[in-house]
Amino acid sequence: MSIDSLRADCARCTGLCCVALAFDASASFSFDKAAGEACPHLTNDDACGVHDELCARGLSGCASYDCLGAGQHVTAMLPGLHWRDDEVSARLLFDTFRAMRLVHEFVELLSAAAQLPLNEDERHERDAWLRTLQPEEGWAAETLSAFEHSAMPLQLRAWLARVGARLRALQFGK
Ligand code: SF4
Repeated sequence: MSIDSLRADCARCTGLCCVALAFDASASFSFDKAAGEACPHLTNDDACGVHDELCARGLSGCASYDCLGAGQHVTAMLPGLHWRDDEVSARLLFDTFRAMRLVHEFVELLSAAAQLPLNEDERHERDAWLRTLQPEEGWAAETLSAFEHSAMPLQLRAWLARVGARLRALQFGK
């Protein structure tokens, strides 16, 4: 997976983050929105109707959110499905989007770890995780769901925490 594929391309997405995700009224969002409910600013052609004035409208959370390319990948992975069509399609798209975003987040973290002074074991483990996260046959909705519900996300978070703790100890001598 190239770094380019971790870049969001809203033009090739059907506004999945603007529907699938919930947000609470706060300093970052000027109103509440439930998960699965389309944002009132989403236009009929799935674009943000207030894109150029997000911060002015108290929607800095939208400006800073990054799907890491999950939106356009899921849209391409499930061609012909649209969340507006029916509840089953919407659920499948939202669930797949959530799992794909998780995979992309891990790939981004592991790619950044290439710059860190990993020891040999950690380098091998990092490479193994990257192979798992980038299967040769690509991802499908079913395999993404299986990954998300497996023990692997927890295991990978634990690995990242362990490596981070070791490197901090190395840096600060603790
Ligand atoms: S304000 Fe725009 S970017 Fe934010 S959720 Fe609504 S449509 Fe999406």
